[in-house]
Parts: sequence; structure tokens; C-alpha cells
Amino acid sequence: MSAGEDMLRFIAEAYPICRSITGDGVRRTLAMIGESIGGRIPLDVHEVPSGTPVFDWTVPREWSIRDAWIKDPSGRKVVDFQVCNLHVLNYSVPIHAKMPLEELKTHLFTLPDKPDLIPYRTSYYKEAWGFCLSHRVLTELPDGEYEVFVDSTLADGSLTYGECFLQGESEREILLSTHVCHPSLCNDNLSGIAVMTWLARALADRPRRRYSYRFLFIPGTIGSITWLARNEERVGRIAQGLVAANLGDSGTLHYKKSRRGDAEIDRAVLAVLGASGEPFGVEDFVPFGYDERQYASPGFNLAVGSLTRTPYGRYPEYHTSADNLGFVRAESLEGSLGTYLAVMDVLEGNRRYLNLNPKCEPQLGRRGLYRAIGGDDAGRSRELALLWVLNFSDGEHSLLDIAERSGMAFAAIREAADALLQVELLREMEEGA
Ligand code: ZN
Repeated sequence: MSAGEDMLRFIAEAYPICRSITGDGVRRTLAMIGESIGGRIPLDVHEVPSGTPVFDWTVPREWSIRDAWIKDPSGRKVVDFQVCNLHVLNYSVPIHAKMPLEELKTHLFTLPDKPDLIPYRTSYYKEAWGFCLSHRVLTELPDGEYEVFVDSTLADGSLTYGECFLQGESEREILLSTHVCHPSLCNDNLSGIAVMTWLARALADRPRRRYSYRFLFIPGTIGSITWLARNEERVGRIAQGLVAANLGDSGTLHYKKSRRGDAEIDRAVLAVLGASGEPFGVEDFVPFGYDERQYASPGFNLAVGSLTRTPYGRYPEYHTSADNLGFVRAESLEGSLGTYLAVMDVLEGNRRYLNLNPKCEPQLGRRGLYRAIGGDDAGRSRELALLWVLNFSDGEHSLLDIAERSGMAFAAIREAADALLQVELLREMEEGA
């Protein structure tokens, strides 16, 4: 089975779980992530008590939901949480009451322009109760007395997040963060969770890692704020990172740059997307979106970008019941994972070298690096890469610099450097030299 199909199976299994920014839905999802990462590395699950101050915020009370429904005047269930968990306003306080339709309507959310879809709505920080339903169902509700029931608890408990740390040769860390707080929605964001889980597996399986990697599986906004508040003294080790989401739809890849705009992570992602031969989107940082806005707040200013497929809010299925299992594809998930791995390859392989034969070109043919007979394009391109690396390995230029300047794929430049190292025409520069 391909990694894409494995990820799709993971998504199908996690899809029915009702997640929120706190509660058992997140815990069950984290247990699935831990199981999928397997014995490679532990997924540490942290519980932060309600009421804990985290910078300007407070960890909220924990929300548990067991059931919710609306019965029409004839006693028929017209909205049922057991059928679709998007039906309940996420974080609804409990209620059991009877009321006329006109009063009930002030607690109902629909999408008149997408009359068959159920919207996804939340009310984390303002106590409220409510239901989400298709506009078509709403328009067919007869007048009369309705019974509403939300069997939920909002009480002191904790906020739960998962963290997975992969030690590398360096203490410098790559941060990989994704939100785990959405209920039955596939692209936003079970796709991000699946790709990050499989990325952690792939990196853990590597025999050598230059960087250390820190994976965060956190509730959106309050999760990253909580992590930053609890790890302030460790943040300096984060060299760069990415926020993952919306990685399973059939749209092209899209990169939102870090706040700095020209950090190594920005250049690495653009090098990979540029060499892919596929169309892609790119935009500058804006202070809204996912958790990159917390990582990039001025007090931290971490070089964290966001690599997605179609960005949030720009596809009609976004935050609706149409973001379902039919909306995400194994090939898209697999392509997203491959792109993340290629970006990590650039970061891992981006080093500076010194040409040990800098006076005129070395004789490559004698070292088996030059074709005896010319003509094939692949051979020509390999030789070009060798010449680029030799010429710019002056101790100043990194391989990413050379890839950008030559317009060649980073992987080709990296391969050329490896070949030249083999025949001792290059020496690696010390980090920071
Ligand atoms: Zn969302």
C-alpha cells in the first residue's frame, strides 16, 4: 500500500471523531498519531490545566460533548449530532428547552449560498449554544414548538497537545506544527495531521539527521500560544519551521512565506516548488492564517512559513460538510509528503564547501566524472552541476545559493557535491565558519 493510501486510511479512521480545542476527541486523535508513528519515537502528550495563564490568554475549560439534537413539533429529530458532529456549534454549553421556531432560529447557522452544506462554527471564548444545518433543512422547518438538547459539559479539565522530538546531530531544531482541533473535516485538517505523522515516521527512520525536529500536534491558536508560553527558553533553538494544513485536496501547492520573507526555509521551499515542474502559488506573510502568526509574533519572530495546497478559505468546501472523505485524495497526500521531505532534504543538505583545486578546472575525466563521449542530455546536465559546484564552492556560497544561481534543482547540485566529495575535490566548511 502506498503512503498516500495509508494516510487516507488514517484520515478515514479519524474522520468520525468530534475534536475541539480541548477534550477527548483530541486525546483519541493523538493516540492514533502515536500509534501510527509506532515504536520509532514517543509522542509526548501534555495536559495543561484549565485556567493556566499563557501570555495574554488563559487555557479554557474543557469541553465534552455526548449528544445534541433538535426535535420538530411532531417529535421528529430534524438535526442530530450522531449523524454529523458539525451539527453542534463547537463548544456549545448544555441546554434542554422548548421554544418556538422564531426563537430557535437565533441559534441556527446555515449557508444560504450553499444550501445543501452544513457549516462548521465554533464559540470557544464566548458561552453560547447553537446548531449548524443545511439551509435547505432550515427552510423546510414547520412553525411550532421545538425541543432542543445539547448534552455537553464545560468544566475545569485541561488542554491537550502532542509533541514529538527527533534528536539530530545539531541542537538546532526544525519546527513542524499542525492543528488538531477540527471535528469531521478532512482537508482542514486531517490531511495536515496525516502528512505530519508520516513525515515524522520518515525522518525518524533516517539513519542520520543534521537537524533536530520538533513536531507539534496542537489545537489552533490556543495550542501554539500555550506551547510558546511553556517553552519560551527553548524557542531560541528553533532555526526555522513550517505550519502544515490543507494538504489533501487536488489543488496545487501553495507557500506562505515566513515573516522574514528571505529565510533559509523560504528559499528551500521555493527551490523545491520551482524544480517540481508543477504550477504553485506563493505569497508574502500576512498576520492572519494558522499558527504561523503566533510563531511569527514580534516577540518570537521565528522563521516559520506555511506550506499547503489550496489555502484555507479559498475552496468552496472549506469549513463545511463537503470537506469530507470524498474531497481528499491519496495522490495529493503523497505528493504533499514528498514535497515536505524534499524541503527537509534541502535544509539537511544545504552546506558550504571549499574547492580544493581552485586554480583552473580540475580534470574531471581522469576522475571518472566526465563522459568520454558527449551527447546525452542527462550527462551534460550532470557535468554542468559539477562545474557550478566547483566554481562557487569558495567557502562563501552554500549549495542552495548555487542551486538558485544556476537555476538547477537542489537535488542535482547536492548530487554533484557528493560526487566531488568522493574524489576529494571538495572539503566541507565548518558550521559557522
Ligand atoms: Zn479551519
